[in-house]
Parts: sequence; C-alpha cells; structure tokens
Amino acid sequence: MERLYLDHAATTPVAPEVVAAMLPYLTSAFGNPSSAHSFGREAREAVERARRQVAASLGAEPAEIVFTSGGTEADVLALRGAAYACRRRGNHIITTAVEHHAVLDTCLALDTEGFDVTVLPVDERGKVRLEDVAAAIRNTTILISVMHANNEVGTVQPIRAICEVAHRHGVLVHTDAVQSFGKIPVSVADLGVDLLSLSGHKIYGPKGVGALYVRAGTPLEPLFHGGGQERGLRPGTENVAGIVGLGRAAALVKEKLAEETRCLRALREYLKKELVARLPDVRFNGDQEDCLPGLLHFSIPGVDGPTLLKMLDGEGIAVSGGAACTTGETKPSYVLLALGLAEDYTRCPVRVTLGRSTTVAAVERFVAVLDGAVRRLRGEKQGG
Ligand SMILES: *Cc1c(COP(=O)(O)O)cnc(C)c1O
Repeated sequence: MERLYLDHAATTPVAPEVVAAMLPYLTSAFGNPSSAHSFGREAREAVERARRQVAASLGAEPAEIVFTSGGTEADVLALRGAAYACRRRGNHIITTAVEHHAVLDTCLALDTEGFDVTVLPVDERGKVRLEDVAAAIRNTTILISVMHANNEVGTVQPIRAICEVAHRHGVLVHTDAVQSFGKIPVSVADLGVDLLSLSGHKIYGPKGVGALYVRAGTPLEPLFHGGGQERGLRPGTENVAGIVGLGRAAALVKEKLAEETRCLRALREYLKKELVARLPDVRFNGDQEDCLPGLLHFSIPGVDGPTLLKMLDGEGIAVSGGAACTTGETKPSYVLLALGLAEDYTRCPVRVTLGRSTTVAAVERFVAVLDGAVRRLRGEKQGG
C-alpha cells in the first residue's frame, strides 16, 4: 500500500538539496565555528552563509537573525527575552486565543511570574479584530504577540495593521511565522514586526533548528548564559549542519514561492470542490480568503473524528485532526472553540496540508477514501 502524506503543517520531509548541503557539515567539515583554525573558519563561513540566506528570505539584515533550536525556542526567546528586557517600562503583554502552545503557554507562565497577559478573542474565521488590539493597549503594554498564520485552520492575521497600532504606542510586536514562512510572502519590512519566529522542519529543512528575527535595536535578554554565540543571545556551540540546512531550505522556498503558492492554491480549490461534491454538509473552517495556500480545515458533522482519522491511517493516509501536538486528545481543540464552532463541528475536524509532492491524483485518492470512510461511519451503503 502506498502511503499518502497530507500533514505538511506538522512537518515536512527534508528536501534532497538540503540534505546535500548539510552532509559535508556532518562529515569532513565538522569544525567548531568558534575555533580560530581552518576547520573552525570553514564552519563559521557556513553558519554566516546560512544567516545571509535566512535574512535574504525575510528581507532582513544578517545581523538580525538569531539561530535557535526551532520554532518553539524562537517563540520563547522572543516573548521572555522581550518581556524581561522591557520589564522596567511595563508588564502588560497582549496575545490571542489561537496562538501555538509555544506562545500561549509561555504567556500564561509569564502571567504567573509578575507579568499581566491579555488573551484576545478571535472572530468566527479565526481573525483577531484590530479594534480589540487597539482597545487592549495600556500605558504598561510592552509586547503584542500575534501569529502570522494559524497552524490549525490556516487563517492569516493582519500583522501589518497590528504593527501600525502597536508602534503608535511604542509597543513591540512579535509574530510566529512558522506556518506562513515559505508559503506566503513573509517580509519583515512589509509586516513591520520587531520579532519573528520561523522553523526549519516546516519548510523542508531539518528538525531541531529555527531562527528568530530581531529587528536592529529591539531590546532582548538571552534565556541562556554561557558562550558568546549568536551575539550572546543564544549561547552554545552552533548546530552547524542544521543551520546550513535551514539556510538552504530558506533559499529554496524563496526561489520556489510564487510557483508553489500557485500550485497549492489550485490543489486546495480542487480539494474543496471535490469535498463539496461528495459530502455536501462539509463545513470549511478558518478564513477562506486570507488563508494558507496548502491548508484546508473542515468539519464533517455526525462523524467521530478520531475514528475517521484511524480509518484513514489504516488506508495509509496521514492527515491531522488539528495541531500535531494535540492529537490523541479527546477534548475539542481550543482553536476551534475560540472560533465559536458548534459541538457538531468540533467533533470531527480534519486538517489536510498539501505539500511540494502532492498531486491531483493524491487529492482524488484522499477524497475517495474519505468519502468511503464517512459513509461506513454513517452506516450508509458505499456509493449509495
Ligand atoms: C510547528 C510550530 C511551532 C513549533 O516549531 P518547532 O520547530 O516544532 O519547535 C511553533 N509555531 C507554529 C505556528 C508551528 O506550527
């Protein structure tokens, strides 16, 4: 049985070009970038090349990129780093109810540590309202963190407008761009953000590496102390091969962005059309205009989600019921609850995330298998 992977928001395979770029740094070019000899210089040059590649893909300066162990660490460094650095100015932080756990749980932890966190609601499409952001700002507000695109339903947030409001009040803005980076244009100048997180394994790079963009002049305290690596913001010997992989992956997505976006958007529209034809009561969740091109989130009323996903898995088809980290949980997703979905729609959420290798035939196979499984669950005769 040929397996079909439709869960690219959870992780992606490492691109062959990325593997090829990384290999030398796992073998012959094993130097420590902090060493002064030729082995060290070779590794240092590779790390700095990757920094330029990541910076170029965001329209940033190389000096504004800090490599981390992934998206989670980039989020935590942004939030805690900025919160500690701005502590004398104020203690109020604003975020939203649909953030990734890396942001939400860090904010909730900061709330128990003397900071004061406002969690904004979202509308039925998963969008935060600008007027809510503006109304939440106080003279003690130091930081706003709103994700660029949601990992569960794919809604893209109005980051640029949020930055305009925030900066009028001298408030820093962080965005988690882990899902949007490589899928829609992500330019730090266009967005206007001060801090931006990204991750390697969501963009056909390796796991365990990510980056935080830190606009020049943005106050930030390190979470770790030790060596002086990453300008003291992230001490510890660099994950050279991982960083090289992230750099190559970032350069690749930059190169392929326009074409990939077009392909994914077309496949997503085709998938929607096929789903409506087979399952007329399907409900699509999240904003259908401001959305990620390769992500489709839908609910099938009257069906048990975990059972359906198990049946699909039995057919070799990998999709998700939401975020990868919440799979296995039986309670409704906090993101869907924040969208205000009725229980009938939170019981069977399906997130399909298309990727570089997804074909029209794959979409057709998925829809056919899903249709069969739903009919069986509903006790109908197949094809009837
Ligand atoms: C995957 C993801 C993260 C975490 O990134 P890791 O590199 O896996 O730590 C953070 N935010 C969002 C929106 C994600 O999708």
